[in-house]
Amino acid sequence: MPLTKEELDRLTDEVVKHLQALIRIDTSNPPGNELPAAEYIHDVFADEGIDATILKSAPKRANVVARLKSGADDAGPILLMSHTDVVPANPDEWTHHPFSGEIADGFVWGRGALDMKDMTAIEMVIMLELKRRGLKLKRDVVFAATADEEMGSTYGMKWLVDNHWDMIKAEYAINEGGGVGIAMGDRLVFTCQIAEKGIAWLTLKARGNPGHGSAPTGKNAVVELSRAVAKLGSSHLPRHKVEAAERFIDELARLSPYPTWLANILLKTNFGLKFLKKSGQVTLAALLYAIQRNTATPTMLRAGQKENVIPATAEATIDGRILPGQTPDNFIREVRRIVGDDIEIELVKSSQGYQIDYKSPLFEVFNQVLKEHYANAVLVPMMVAGVTDGRFVVPKGVKVYGFIPHIQKPELPILKLIHGVDERVSIENLRFATSVLWESVSRFVS
Ligand SMILES: [Zn+2]
Repeated sequence: MPLTKEELDRLTDEVVKHLQALIRIDTSNPPGNELPAAEYIHDVFADEGIDATILKSAPKRANVVARLKSGADDAGPILLMSHTDVVPANPDEWTHHPFSGEIADGFVWGRGALDMKDMTAIEMVIMLELKRRGLKLKRDVVFAATADEEMGSTYGMKWLVDNHWDMIKAEYAINEGGGVGIAMGDRLVFTCQIAEKGIAWLTLKARGNPGHGSAPTGKNAVVELSRAVAKLGSSHLPRHKVEAAERFIDELARLSPYPTWLANILLKTNFGLKFLKKSGQVTLAALLYAIQRNTATPTMLRAGQKENVIPATAEATIDGRILPGQTPDNFIREVRRIVGDDIEIELVKSSQGYQIDYKSPLFEVFNQVLKEHYANAVLVPMMVAGVTDGRFVVPKGVKVYGFIPHIQKPELPILKLIHGVDERVSIENLRFATSVLWESVSRFVS
């Protein structure tokens, strides 16, 4: 259902308006306070006859769900998902106030402009426009804007899946995590997220001989721990092949100007990634590194209470991330090999990674629609190193695609802006995403 220029102008204006309104509702998490955002969405839907439900998970914490019903239930529903909370922002550091939703230089500025109130606004407009057109749907279209994604989703998607799965049950979902298009040679390469890593947070503990700091007694827990942490921080865990990552890397290799053997060295070996990083591709090198192995990043240290007391123990927190298919036990074995047997390792928190079987009619629709916009577009499946709310719905059998179409300008890397200072989205990109997502969803459901 392609849009005329006038229609796209109108929908983009609406997206901008709703995005500004959502940014102005401060949903910094902690504490979240997503209720007013849920109420805003509820009211916009109510004005046009869409009956949305607000589901409170705690005081001031709320999710909002709406559904456009199909005539027949011959095909599984599609879920348009997003989160309404954002990470905090310090106004002193920003060019425009992070909760102003100001428009300047062709951008909508504010916390959440990219992560991910932009998507909430676009998904709202898709719901409204489907309703207005009264299209005969072959699938239900479900909308869910949820709380608490930035703090673990206890009051958001996790809660919704545990308590109201019937309301959001779907076969497909569109979420954050991918969609960024980058020019590579004469191709415009777009990512579509189909996999993500899991978490395996560890505590490392060293024990030593306590005593007076003036008279060293031999084995010092602080020294033992430091040695282990330094070793872990400077080692590489072994490479594991995961299909989602291999597909992504093979596509990059194919699109690169280099012969395959050279591209493989560049993209798959530590030596190659170091080179890539040195040549300025810092973000890409970090992503490629993280999606080919489990990682163990030391983030916190605890030891000692007084200058002249040698503590009996010292602890470090390790932010461990594991590939889909890897278990915390595998990961601990890899860490053990590096830190040695004297260090105690405790698993603090873990979650599984996932990868979906991505080939589907929806993936094909995304691919087609992108090609209609840009003949040189290529859609490539990829894995993210972080986590999204996708991890709660994939175990329920949902095919989740992280896809917020966005053309990245080299001078403005999206990863720097997300959770960063001066987060903003260009109106040009909002227009592009609105066009691609409207076209994809409307074609897929009617
Ligand atoms: Zn997000």
